[in-house]
Amino acid sequence: MLPTIPIAERHIDDYIEAAGPEIVEELRDAAKPLSGARLLHVNSTAFGGGVAELLHTQLGLFANLGLDVTWAVIEGSHDFFDVTKSVHNALQGAEVELTPEMRQVYLDRVKANAEMLTGEFDFVLVHDPQPAALLAFVEDIGERKGRWMWRCHLDLSAPYRPTWEFFEPYVDAYDAIVFTAETYAQPGVSGPKPAFIAPTIDPLSMKNRHLAPSVIRDIVASLNIDIERPLITQVSRFDPWKDPLGVIDAFRMARHDVEGLQLALVGSLAADDPEGIRYLQLADEHGQHDPDIHLLTNLDGVGDVEVNAIQRASAVVVQKSLREGFGLVVSEAMWKETPVVGGNVGGIRMQIEDGVTGFLVDSPVMCAQRIVELVGNKRMAHRMGKEGHRTVLENYITPRELMDQLVLMRSLS
Ligand code: UDP
Repeated sequence: MLPTIPIAERHIDDYIEAAGPEIVEELRDAAKPLSGARLLHVNSTAFGGGVAELLHTQLGLFANLGLDVTWAVIEGSHDFFDVTKSVHNALQGAEVELTPEMRQVYLDRVKANAEMLTGEFDFVLVHDPQPAALLAFVEDIGERKGRWMWRCHLDLSAPYRPTWEFFEPYVDAYDAIVFTAETYAQPGVSGPKPAFIAPTIDPLSMKNRHLAPSVIRDIVASLNIDIERPLITQVSRFDPWKDPLGVIDAFRMARHDVEGLQLALVGSLAADDPEGIRYLQLADEHGQHDPDIHLLTNLDGVGDVEVNAIQRASAVVVQKSLREGFGLVVSEAMWKETPVVGGNVGGIRMQIEDGVTGFLVDSPVMCAQRIVELVGNKRMAHRMGKEGHRTVLENYITPRELMDQLVLMRSLS
């Protein structure tokens, strides 16, 4: 069998307080016909990035709702993750060629993983491009059983065509494809049933739960950030699409108008993201070792509770992505009533209503202007923080996403 990740014990009743008793009741009803159904999720990493975050939260809840849940990760290699990173970029529109050798590296690895995939499942949910071709190989060895869903967390609306044409037959074989939003669907996909499910954050996780002000202060101080001075933060993998260099530029402009401004760039280095370390070094050079620019990673001990504290301690959270499938970090900050200045793209546009629940920006200059406005106008920042929290409560917390997935599985069974 592929390597599996333990499913944490979770209880759906714990969500009554955050989400209300009705939705929890509805979830129980919706899950009844799926009681005992064997559900397998497959992705490429147990740690780092939004998908791992979602699975850690949700799979224990599906188990608590009566499903028989397994989480498996594919085994990659350095070469394989180099290729899948190029695929990720190309499927979001970058003109990155997949050479015949790269295609072979990809297919050989996925085939080896398909051969390790044993066990019988009623539903298999495969996340993102890394394991997407699994189904084709499973089918080749005559082992296709149950319903197969491919969840694409990327924006596939304008992919680089040659790369998409390579992938299309692999994803066309699925029973259903799940996109974050209708606008992300690739019009060419015709076989699988389309479904649209936006991700959510977990209000009960260490990343999002309430923290006492004294805890926030202690954590922030332990990271050498001055709690008395205004702080802006971006929490993201070090990746060109997240534009950390643009954030540094915006910070430099904003600090002319905001005395003592500090910037935290927090990024975990994920196992399937070889570009990360290189991009962290680039950000370090771009920041010219400025003592008010804090580059923090999981290697500095910045885990969930630290991210939680930093997001809460920030005057403004920035998410200046140039492309963004969804951007869980936006909902995470909004949930904490911290106003967000986000890139005017994809999933960020979905979450932020410009001028109401945060600001959308198209350039470092605009980003700097909005930061200055929000740091200088506490009343506006407070109002946006409250509105942001309401948006997340109504649309982007866990129970809604569980429900959408149960509805999809039932529609396929
Ligand atoms: N994250 C984290 N530590 C970091 C960087 C990111 O815990 O140093 C988390 C972040 O809080 C969020 C997820 O990783 O929950 C990133 O998800 P998002 O959808 O924003 O971006 P992705 O990495 O999937 O493109």
